[in-house]
Amino acid sequence: MPALLRQLSALGGCTHPIRLDGHRTEHTVDTRTGEIGNVLHHLDSTTLPAGHLLVRCNNRRTTRCAACAEVYRRDTFHLITSGLRGGKGVPERVAAHPRVFATFTAPGFGPVHNRPTGPTRSVRPCRCGVLHDQDDAALGAPLNPETYDYEAAVLWNAHAGALWRRFSTYLRREVAKRAGLTQRAFRDYARVSFAKVAEYQKRGAVHFHAVIRIDGPDGGDTPPPGWATAELLTDAIRAAATAVRVDGPVIDGRAHVFALGRQLDVRTIRSADFDGGQELTERAVAAYIAKYATKGAETATGALDRPLKFLAELAQLDISDHARRLIRTA
Ligand SMILES: [Zn+2]
Ligand SMILES: [Zn+2]
Repeated sequence: MPALLRQLSALGGCTHPIRLDGHRTEHTVDTRTGEIGNVLHHLDSTTLPAGHLLVRCNNRRTTRCAACAEVYRRDTFHLITSGLRGGKGVPERVAAHPRVFATFTAPGFGPVHNRPTGPTRSVRPCRCGVLHDQDDAALGAPLNPETYDYEAAVLWNAHAGALWRRFSTYLRREVAKRAGLTQRAFRDYARVSFAKVAEYQKRGAVHFHAVIRIDGPDGGDTPPPGWATAELLTDAIRAAATAVRVDGPVIDGRAHVFALGRQLDVRTIRSADFDGGQELTERAVAAYIAKYATKGAETATGALDRPLKFLAELAQLDISDHARRLIRTA
């Protein structure tokens, strides 16, 4: 039992360890001739207390393995934090580079139940006439499922990655244009880098949160040019996000074209020193990104965190009608 406990404790709480069968032998090697010498260590999985070699699943979804997802969340937090204020091999000077936190949404596919806010930020009733509670299961579901554009909603998610890649190309172009540089010359002066996560909104559409930063030509180690400001970056992001389009498939004679939604939020990230309680700080941004790096569609939409083998399984699942229609369409 103590040996089994030792083996299990090395998993750090992973609930779905991968069981490996096999053996591993370490030998000395003569570095001049390459000749294999004495056995240093031999491991046979069948001799281990659990009968297998157990390794962490390293799944980053909370619903699959809370322990492994937590490790991933912390790693992400530190990665984003060092990208914002230096540390772990990143120079501290990056904290002085122009940085923004931007949220990109999907366009509308039809009206959904929501909690609209008035001018005083007070919650108003939904279009259906109900003042929905914050955790009302109806939130995000279409007012009329028959007219909701499920086909476009599902395809948009499938093209969101391509849309982001094209956006990042456009963004560099827009930043260069505002600096009066050609794209070729731009590379000699500055670099645009980002970290992004995809989050599912309640309606099941992907949206992106991204930290975007302008550095000098060699990245974080080099100072950005004088023209590189958070305002210029914000302006360039808005222009690129408005312009970006990706062609989709033609289905039943309908040619799909995908764009980002009109709702776009871009905020300058301040260092903790500038934080008056209102500003968006490095820590808050890092915590936000890290949180969404470990959440999948199932948390927001009540859908599934695994693929289905047969469509017939869909009928047996305890999921919302909206999630069922999304999955069927997919
Ligand atoms: Zn795990
Ligand atoms: Zn409603």
